[in-house]
Amino acid sequence: MPTIAHEISVFGDAIAFFNEAASLLNLDAGTRAILTHPSRQIIVSIPFERDSGELEVYTGYRVQYNFTRGPAKGGIRYHPGVTLDEVTALAFWMTWKCAVVDLPFGGGKGGVTCDPAVLSQGELERITRRYAAELVEVIGPDKDVPAPDVGTTPQIMAWFMDTYSMHVRQNTPGVVTGKPIELGGSRGRVEATGRGVTLCAVDQLEEMKIDVRAARVIVQGFGNVGSVAAKMFAERGAHVVGISDVSGGYYNSSGIDVAGAIAHAQEHQSLEGYRGGDRLSNARLLEQPCDVLVPAALEDQITLENAGRIQARLIVEGANGPIRPDADRVLAQNGVVVIPDIIANAGGVIVSYFEWCQDRSGLFWKEAEVNERLTDHLIGNFRHVRELAQRRRIPLRTAAYVVAIDRVVKALRMRGVYA
Ligand code: NAD
Repeated sequence: MPTIAHEISVFGDAIAFFNEAASLLNLDAGTRAILTHPSRQIIVSIPFERDSGELEVYTGYRVQYNFTRGPAKGGIRYHPGVTLDEVTALAFWMTWKCAVVDLPFGGGKGGVTCDPAVLSQGELERITRRYAAELVEVIGPDKDVPAPDVGTTPQIMAWFMDTYSMHVRQNTPGVVTGKPIELGGSRGRVEATGRGVTLCAVDQLEEMKIDVRAARVIVQGFGNVGSVAAKMFAERGAHVVGISDVSGGYYNSSGIDVAGAIAHAQEHQSLEGYRGGDRLSNARLLEQPCDVLVPAALEDQITLENAGRIQARLIVEGANGPIRPDADRVLAQNGVVVIPDIIANAGGVIVSYFEWCQDRSGLFWKEAEVNERLTDHLIGNFRHVRELAQRRRIPLRTAAYVVAIDRVVKALRMRGVYA
């Protein structure tokens, strides 16, 4: 499978955000060097048999970026654009995400360069089992805990958990999160990231004195994160005027019927053919009039090229890295408030943490309890970040990095550098 080359380094861009906050913390060069180097980058070959009987080899990655505050934690992506650079950036973001919402985890991420849309369930299972088997020595509930990301599902987590458990000869549900509930998954996990996006947005809209019931919302990406966020915005009375997925964008100034769009996407595995809005390109959808824009697809969607045409007053980063650093500055100059990915989409990892706790204790919580704890944990940390942003007159993103880096650095200093 050929890799889609990135024109720029995603990890290089990610470090730009880190450096801004590191300067505000007067971080010394040595500590900066430690925190801008991944602890471990693993590349594995995944030979597997196609349904046709042919043998193929895909490439898989796992980056364990940092272990200072606990085991590495982060999703597994199955997508044609997966590269070591992208996985490293995603693992880097996970480190700050876990720290900014105060979870006892470091950061990690994994991926396989493949297109799940053209693979059968059997092929996906064989790829997943071989990928898990290749990583068996370096993952585990106290080492590194994967989860779903773009292109991976609870079923894939179930195969991953089963493969690991077979290798270590004991049932180990805590090795991955985002599992089906029947296998030790948490209630509320599937919706957690989209729920968190909406919770942060509603809290910020209140701060900006915008009534959520008057807010027009555009959501880019209609997968796990985007579709749930759209549904929850609609439940809160907001007008979801635009949605999109890989098939294109759909805009309706009188409001999209979100439940109908979800039913369509479930039936057709895509929004292709959806008739509840005017069809336009994904790029143009981002530039349509709205109050809240939720990029919930992939990175690098808002760049220097289109940043000046964004009309939203608030952007909530459902995806990881959807705004490039130079575009972020243009948005700030134009007064657009951005809730950064490391906090806006942290609902998923917070409930993954709850799942890990439940698996280890063997005691499972009701959905209402999960959602209540998620709200407390996420919004408590978000308000802490916002207070810092207001006090120091810095963007929310910089404040989130300051809080996260400060927590990791404190732990690093207490542990010391083992040499
Ligand atoms: P998913 O695979 O369920 O959905 C991705 C969606 O994006 C699909 O609807 C796809 O059609 C769409 N898409 C792909 N390319 C697109 C494009 N160019 N324009 C518009 N839409 C496009 O993935 P997901 O789990 O919803 O993840 C989306 C983003 O959220 C990723 O950046 C991921 O890292 C991030 N994220 C996910 C979680 C989680 O719990 N799933 C947690 C934190 C962050």
